[in-house]
Amino acid sequence: MSSPTFPNYINGEWVAGPTFENRNPASIDEVVGLFVKGSAADADQAAEAAQAAFSPWSTLPAPARGNYLFKVAEILEREFDQIASEMTREEGKTLPEAKGEVRRAINIFRYYGGEGSRLPGLLVPSERDRVHTFSIRKPIGVVGLITPWNFPIAIPAWKLAPALICGNTVVIKPASPAPLCAWRIVEACHQAGIPKGVVNFVAGSGGELGKALVNAKPLKAILFTGSTDVGHWLHAEASKRMLRIQLEMGGKNPTIVLADADFNSAVENVVNAAFFSTGQKCTATSRAIVEDAIYETFVAALVERTRKLKVGNGLEAGIDIGPAVDEAQLKTDLKYIEIGRKEAGEPRTGGHRLTGGAYDKGYFIEPTIFADVTADMTIAKEEIFGPVLSVMRAKDFEDAMRIANNIPLGLSASVQTTNLSRVFDFVYRAEAGLLTVNLPSAGVEYQLPFGGTKESSFGSKEQGPAALEFYSDYKTIYLKY
Ligand code: NAP
Repeated sequence: MSSPTFPNYINGEWVAGPTFENRNPASIDEVVGLFVKGSAADADQAAEAAQAAFSPWSTLPAPARGNYLFKVAEILEREFDQIASEMTREEGKTLPEAKGEVRRAINIFRYYGGEGSRLPGLLVPSERDRVHTFSIRKPIGVVGLITPWNFPIAIPAWKLAPALICGNTVVIKPASPAPLCAWRIVEACHQAGIPKGVVNFVAGSGGELGKALVNAKPLKAILFTGSTDVGHWLHAEASKRMLRIQLEMGGKNPTIVLADADFNSAVENVVNAAFFSTGQKCTATSRAIVEDAIYETFVAALVERTRKLKVGNGLEAGIDIGPAVDEAQLKTDLKYIEIGRKEAGEPRTGGHRLTGGAYDKGYFIEPTIFADVTADMTIAKEEIFGPVLSVMRAKDFEDAMRIANNIPLGLSASVQTTNLSRVFDFVYRAEAGLLTVNLPSAGVEYQLPFGGTKESSFGSKEQGPAALEFYSDYKTIYLKY
């Protein structure tokens, strides 16, 4: 059977061209789809189309823009099962995880659809007699969106929906290992009747398209979620043109486990945050910092629980962990495991690629735990983005906080404790943008601001009402009557 081809979408037209393959990481012989490999010229054309569409779209009443978003949500809802299974096939996460993510994308479109009836400005009293002062929101223009593969529908949704409701027009460039889910959103925008040029989609090489987008004349802003190195490069390029920019990048997220924690729930939370989605969540726990008094028993419990996890094709029932997204990520995981072996000794569990039978068809790897990791080790400092957990020993809460904060990254952090004072100490002092208490470090909701601090993020927050701050500007009016 020949593989379906997914064209680019520029100015309301489906645009064909040479293609690249999107393969299933659980079964690499299977081509999920062929995607048109867009060029720099395509990115330019897409930006020009978005520029031409800006005026009519931005002057449409915001509730009418909201109605389009509601339609997109409705279409995604109709295709719910298909999109979820496509996500598992292109990215590898398990079907229940994929369903949760599609649900989230639908909710995001509904949430921002409703925002069309609010879009709050400011109304404050003037100091002057008979002067009326207020600020209204206006869109910023053409926005470039560059998204990663690990949340292939939620991240495109949480960038696209607020951009559109504020009245901007967009060019979206999805990650090459998993472009299909973003394509499905764009198809839904097309079916919902969103006018031509408002949403444009160009797949292809990040290097080529990223450079073209950041230099495209019509662009006023660029948003990027991905690796720290690319984010830094993009920031330097965007700054030359004074583009508005928002970056969400890497993490090396800690979970502090104190001796007074609910032990079993802490074990579950760390295992969930470290290994589910194959550790490929930006908010995943990669450092468990455990108080000395329970250290050995906690490590033993973590190992026992982790050995029960079932690794396999995420389409099958009962699977906890799918494959690494591609060969490059698998190699990165294995490279860090070797570094870990040299630094911390043999892992307490895992440490190998899985082989034999169906495992030979995909990029499967054992969930891996290193114990007695210290802060100076590479595996305690660098993001791996795979199912590899470093367990570190802390003398007490203060020591744990010091270890947790002592890195340049600050995306998410978690504490497991039943001590209320410790909870608040953690809340006020943890250097991360997303905190959880007695929950896994990963697992966020769309109604609240999302994003990190320190070198994990740059610019204003995404999601919730905070996204409006990035995607719109205030225009302030002083009116004498
Ligand atoms: P990546 O390699 O940086 O890719 C992210 C996106 O950038 C992809 O669309 C990629 O296209 C594109 N890209 C690559 N080179 C580029 C360039 N020179 N200029 C502009 N765009 C370029 O990251 P990834 O491997 O997809 O994702 C994993 C990383 O994302 C991890 O570091 C993770 O922590 C981070 N992440 C962060 C968050 C957060 O919210 N903080 C959320 C999710 C993921 P190609 O695919 O075509 O190369």
